[in-house]
Amino acid sequence: MVIDTPGMRELGMWSAEDGIDHTFLDIEELTRKCRFSDCSHENETGCAVRQAVKDGLIAEERYRAYMKLKAENAYNKNAVDYLAAKKRKFKQIAKLNKHNYKQ
Ligand SMILES: [Zn+2]
Repeated sequence: MVIDTPGMRELGMWSAEDGIDHTFLDIEELTRKCRFSDCSHENETGCAVRQAVKDGLIAEERYRAYMKLKAENAYNKNAVDYLAAKKRKFKQIAKLNKHNYKQ
């Protein structure tokens, strides 16, 4: 039985981000050769990663694993940003409440 522990999964995501460069170093290298710096490596023209997959230099499975990892880390970053923004908002509200109380 698999017990889903969100905390542990988050920890896994953190280390996953550090691991991208090491595990997919060759793909990371290729991303620098893409025509566009903000290339998503999906359907863009001039994408070096897609081209390498097409040429058989990178296995389709590795490309998919890389994209999945990227997506998960992007999601994680958004979640962290969201939580940080929420924290700031709460602080602002707390400050406002304090201010109003004094008056
Ligand atoms: Zn690309």
